[in-house]
Amino acid sequence: MLRVAVVGSGPSGCYTAQGLVEQDPGVHVDVLDRLPCPYGLVRYGVAPDHEKIKSLQNTLRAVLEHDRVRFLGGVPVGPGGVPADRLRELYHAVVYCVGAATDRRLGVPGEDLPGSWSATEFVSWYSAHPDAPGQGADGDRAADGFLRGVRSAVVIGLGNVAVDVTRILARRAAELSRTDVPHAALTALAASAVTDIHMVGRRGPSQARFTTKELRELATLPDSGVAVDAAELAADPACADPAALPAPQRRNVEVLRGWTAGPAPDARRRIRLRFYLRPVEVLARDGRAAGVRFERTVPDGRGGVTGTGRFEDIGAQLVLRSVGYRGVPLEGLPFDPASGTVPHRAGRVLREGGVAPGEYVAGWIKRGPTGVIGTNRPCAKETVTSLLEDASALTLRDVPDEPLAALRAEGVEPVTWTGWQAIERAEAELGASLGRNVVKLPDWESLLAAARTARR
Ligand code: NAP
Repeated sequence: MLRVAVVGSGPSGCYTAQGLVEQDPGVHVDVLDRLPCPYGLVRYGVAPDHEKIKSLQNTLRAVLEHDRVRFLGGVPVGPGGVPADRLRELYHAVVYCVGAATDRRLGVPGEDLPGSWSATEFVSWYSAHPDAPGQGADGDRAADGFLRGVRSAVVIGLGNVAVDVTRILARRAAELSRTDVPHAALTALAASAVTDIHMVGRRGPSQARFTTKELRELATLPDSGVAVDAAELAADPACADPAALPAPQRRNVEVLRGWTAGPAPDARRRIRLRFYLRPVEVLARDGRAAGVRFERTVPDGRGGVTGTGRFEDIGAQLVLRSVGYRGVPLEGLPFDPASGTVPHRAGRVLREGGVAPGEYVAGWIKRGPTGVIGTNRPCAKETVTSLLEDASALTLRDVPDEPLAALRAEGVEPVTWTGWQAIERAEAELGASLGRNVVKLPDWESLLAAARTARR
């Protein structure tokens, strides 16, 4: 029997577990997660109003309910949890599917002012991540709230996360109340006085990273309107002949061209997409973010941009920096700081250029924070193929018959699948008590208290 630990229960972890049990009838997989809840970014990153993508949880659920797969939540690997070396002793192989846990920095003055947040902090807040600001870890700074006193917001970046946070800022609370958004965030969004959202990119429209489906959705929001500056579109040489562009960029440019007339005069909220503006400073007033200073850029002919020495300030009481995720080093594993990934060959972890037996990676920690959820399928498949090729060598080493018993003997008490099901019941009950559908529990205390009810 081959015993494998998968660290991380997001899409890449679940696809890895699925590949292993489907391809080898002798493999048993424990999927560990530091959180008491499974599904990673599907639960804590996909926007609450994207219900169709969220329903992918049903596919991932089937994996975690497979009779040779076990979910062990609330088990951190690394400092304060199970050391990576110990995990290697307990299992024949360990696959790290830990994603990209932090956000990229802008590296400009004022970036950490109150009122300036990474988009991932905002996403975590409305997704009820128990480590999100306001749920304990960063409570003081969040006590100010993301939205209190905010009329204008600047979102920096032109990726799908920027589109997500822009859309959530523009949506009516009535549309969000039927989702699982936590109640405190719903209340704050309902009270929001935001009227203007500026989504700003340093490069041109043909270089934006968002996908057309997500972009189009911005124009479908009730009471909101979208505006694009015709001069900024014209500044992009590729927009003169979009037919020459690859299909995804061509479609984006065609959609953007349709928005130059601006929002309807009665739009309650205005979304303005801006291009060729590079952030140089988050501006302060009374110790808080008051806007962003941008330098106007021009295309350099090689896909990049150069500064012009001309500046534009956009006033805002909320700044969301949406410039991508970044992997963080895991204690005991090699790490390439330049790419924020673990060096690997076809999913096998490399130490000093050589393969480290029994250690694997899949997902964003393997290939960087790009692609949609489905991109994790082929990524996990490659890793699974490598691991199963190595299986006969890996099983030469003795491991405990029951790693869970060994973990428990060392004081680790995981949230098992029945614990997670108790959390699901508690979230359904919370929703019913509020006259809503399922509503997520937003903090460690209530999640763990709900999980404990399963043990009684
Ligand atoms: P992303 O797609 O990498 O976009 C990052 C954006 O930040 C780019 O516009 C980039 O501009 C900009 N940027 C980076 N550094 C900057 C700087 N110093 N100053 C100004 N702008 C800067 O990242 P993401 O939006 O976080 O998304 C991560 C992944 O998740 C993507 O693959 C995305 O498609 C996926 N995702 C998908 C969905 C969905 O399918 N609905 C939803 C959310 C996320 P440059 O191009 O100029 O570098």
